[in-house]
Amino acid sequence: MAGKSVVGEAREIQRATELIELGARMQLLESEVKLSREKLLKLYKEIQGKSPPKGMLPFSTDWFMSWQPNVHASLFMGIYQYLINASELDEVEALIKAFRLYTEYEDTHEMEHVLSITRAWRLIRFFDAGMLTTTPCTKCGGRFVVHTYDLTKNYVCGLCHLPSRAGKTRVRADVVSMMRD
Ligand SMILES: [Zn+2]
Repeated sequence: MAGKSVVGEAREIQRATELIELGARMQLLESEVKLSREKLLKLYKEIQGKSPPKGMLPFSTDWFMSWQPNVHASLFMGIYQYLINASELDEVEALIKAFRLYTEYEDTHEMEHVLSITRAWRLIRFFDAGMLTTTPCTKCGGRFVVHTYDLTKNYVCGLCHLPSRAGKTRVRADVVSMMRD
């Protein structure tokens, strides 16, 4: 496939470029782009003007369970799963498009950028591995990210069960409408 053909390599470079522009880290690039590590490093430096940060992201699902990340992860996953089901995009194309839509949505609603593209990618991997899934909130009907083996029969989401210190409640209705089936 890619690697041998020039067109294939051009496609991978295009893909890597888009991912790097969106802030992807090497961990993501190395597993999703069929280019050598040397080429990816060169591309990264050219686009970002510096070497990629060292270190790995933690391989834990817990990050997605705290209040704010959970709302953002659920929003992103709603967009991503819609794209996967409704379009011919492959997983990486869907990741790029869903992440663009997610950040546009955040900007429109003056929300903080909580999920990076590398986090979003890890989230998808956790879904693929069957470690995370979504479940509907019994109050608002939005779908939220949960651990697959948690008991979710009477699940109430973080937006319906708001911690007192959480602000930005005005985005609630919009966010929930994005996450309904
Ligand atoms: Zn809810």
